[in-house]
Amino acid sequence: MPELQGQCMCGAVTVTATPAKDALGACHCDQCRRWTSSMLVSFQAEEGYAALGPVKTFASSDWAERAFCAECGSALWYRVTAPGDMHGHTEIAAGLFEDTGHGLQLELFIDKKPKGYAFAGERKQMTKAEVEAMFAPSEEGDSQ
Ligand SMILES: [Zn+2]
Ligand SMILES: [Zn+2]
Repeated sequence: MPELQGQCMCGAVTVTATPAKDALGACHCDQCRRWTSSMLVSFQAEEGYAALGPVKTFASSDWAERAFCAECGSALWYRVTAPGDMHGHTEIAAGLFEDTGHGLQLELFIDKKPKGYAFAGERKQMTKAEVEAMFAPSEEGDSQ
């Protein structure tokens, strides 16, 4: 994938990132809904992405942090901080960039999506339980 350059709403933060795949994902979890007022639409970034400007991070859970512009509050990315296979996995907010042309291929926490809206078309969808099983630390196993 070609490298992309984007910026936050106010322009104080610029982000350079290379999508790992030709695909966007959307997350409807409670945190993403509150963070964005709808859902986080993002792409998985290759390692080596970079941001210039006043970036703040917030530990939104024991396993991940969210980065945002300290000036305007624009959502920048979600990054897994917990050790394990997913450590460092970063989902960059797709809206920072001009239209990448990438299609929406995955919806997470589909059972948490408010009933009043939905994306048109079909794609892979995962429930809260399915996502949590995917991200669960190995010591918890498949206790569900
Ligand atoms: Zn900004
Ligand atoms: Zn989410």
